[in-house]
Amino acid sequence: MLNCEVCGSTAIQDEIVSEVFHVNRQYQLVENIPASVCTQCGEKTFSREAAENIRKLLNGPTYPDHAIKLDVFSYAMSPKPVRTSLPSVEIDRGV
Ligand SMILES: [Zn+2]
Repeated sequence: MLNCEVCGSTAIQDEIVSEVFHVNRQYQLVENIPASVCTQCGEKTFSREAAENIRKLLNGPTYPDHAIKLDVFSYAMSPKPVRTSLPSVEIDRGV
């Protein structure tokens, strides 16, 4: 019985997935990969054959099928500098 490498679950099913790989300082998306997916934690495991085919796609001479625009968000936002010389606004309270 196949066990998930992450959570140890045996609830694993075959699915067709997409995965982003970081290769040569670029993010590259490979679609339609056959994978074993843990239904408990979502961990994807590729067969040795699939991994080798992915490696060939990403490092081989063929062009990508198409390109997409990728929006990037930084979860860990650095603290914004605090302005120390704000013009002080006095509210006239009519006192
Ligand atoms: Zn798992």
